[in-house]
Parts: sequence; structure tokens; C-alpha cells
Amino acid sequence: MEDYVISANAPEAGIRAFAITSRALVEEARARHNLSPVCTAALGRLLSGALMMGQMLKNDTDLLTIRIEGDGPAKNLTVTARADGTAKGYVSVPDVVLPANALGKLDVGGAVGRGFLRVVKDLGLKEPYSGEVELQTGEIAEDLTYYFAVSEQTPSSVGLGVLMKKDVTVDQAGGFILQLMPDVKEETIASLEKVLTSIPSVTTMLKEGLSPEDILKKLLGSFDLSIGERRPVSFRCDCSREKVKRALFSLKKEELQNLRAEEEPLTVHCHFCNTDYVFSPSELL
Ligand SMILES: [Zn+2]
Repeated sequence: MEDYVISANAPEAGIRAFAITSRALVEEARARHNLSPVCTAALGRLLSGALMMGQMLKNDTDLLTIRIEGDGPAKNLTVTARADGTAKGYVSVPDVVLPANALGKLDVGGAVGRGFLRVVKDLGLKEPYSGEVELQTGEIAEDLTYYFAVSEQTPSSVGLGVLMKKDVTVDQAGGFILQLMPDVKEETIASLEKVLTSIPSVTTMLKEGLSPEDILKKLLGSFDLSIGERRPVSFRCDCSREKVKRALFSLKKEELQNLRAEEEPLTVHCHFCNTDYVFSPSELL
């Protein structure tokens, strides 16, 4: 199954929903950054969540950034996503290895620790929107749920999952977001809560062969659900040698001279995609 995200609505019930399958792009993130299994799970969950949140943006040029600053061994996670279905991201310490948690799962909460989650939306206005909340569990889905409730006053349910194949490559990755509109009825909430406590995990559903559409039907099948078109999603970094050159041109003459003083090649590193751009002393000249 190719990676894609869908949006859906149940207007009469007052629910909007998103679902994603993201195996290939999480595998690309893992390979690019040499991520350990627990870091793959952490970044994969955040990338999947951010791509669904990207679908809430109005314009393809709008940019969503989520940064998690934790006191766990993985330290910080940063991802960006756009409505066009592209995302990129990295973990400060990509090779964290931890024992499984009490449930026998990858200990994402232990790798992230306690700290903050910050969302910045650059909508092309003068000031970007931003909201920050304290991490609840560091497991990402609960933290995003809390962010929606506190910062956006939108009751939501977020499910995210990454399943590894023999701790080496990504077997399944994906997630869903359900959001309640202000006029939602009590009985709708009660029936949703019942469904949410009875469904298997996202990766179990994906492993069983369920598509994002199937997952939303399983969650919201009892409502008047209308599902939008599939939008392909991918890991994409917009850095390039040309962009790095332009950034170097924007430096002051003295700053460039300082960079050149050592007569060594200059390496500019892109954290998002783990690419090095090397410039020789003569190029700097
Ligand atoms: Zn890059």
C-alpha cells in the first residue's frame, strides 16, 4: 500500500477525521537518519501526526512545525509538514536504545521523557500561530491529544503507531485523528468513547490489511461519514546545494573570510535530511 492521507467528515454528528498510512516515509526517515527502533517509532509517530495536521492547513504553502523538547535520552524531535503531503524531521540523538516498556512495546515515552511540545503554524501572516503544552506521556499521541484540547480547544482523539519488522525496518506506520466540533451531542461522544476503547491499535489494524478508509469506517461507521480523496504523502526535504550557496552569499564578507581562514573545506549539514554540503576553500573564495 502506498503512503497517503485522507480527510473525512461526519457533518451531522459534528465530527471531522483524518487517517494516514505512512510506512514508506517512516522507513525513509529511519534509513536517512540511521534511527534506532525506539527513535524510529518516536519520529514516525510525530511525522504521521504532523502530516494529518498538515491537512488542516488551508494553503499548500502554509508550514506546520512541531518541536518536542524532552529530558529523555532522545532529547529533541523536530518535524515540519505541509498541506501538500510532504514532511521532514529529525531526532537530536538518533541512536537511543532502551529496554521495552511494561507493555513490551518500544519505550517512546522513556526516550522522550518530560518536557514540552510546541506547534508553530506559519500561515503566511505577519505572526505565525504558536501553542505550547507540557508533555503528558511522551508517547506522542497523548501529547497531541492534550495539545488539541488545551491550545486549540478542540476535543480530539489521536492514535499513532509504528511497528518494526525484527527491529530492523518499518513494517507498518500510520494513525488517525478524530475531532469534535463545538455542537457535538453527548450521545455521539458516548458512542465514540465506546468504539475507541474497543478497537485494536493502529498498527494491528494496518497489519490486518485495513486501509485508512477502513480504519475511519471502523471508528465512525455508525455516522454519516463522507471520505475525501487520497493524498499521497512523502518524506521530502527542500534543501539543495543552491539554497546553501544562497545562504552563504547572505553572510557578511568578514564572516565568509573567517570560514575560509582555516583553508579547510566547509561542511554545511542539513539536520532534516542528514545531508552534507561540502564547499572547498576556492569555492568559498
Ligand atoms: Zn535537507
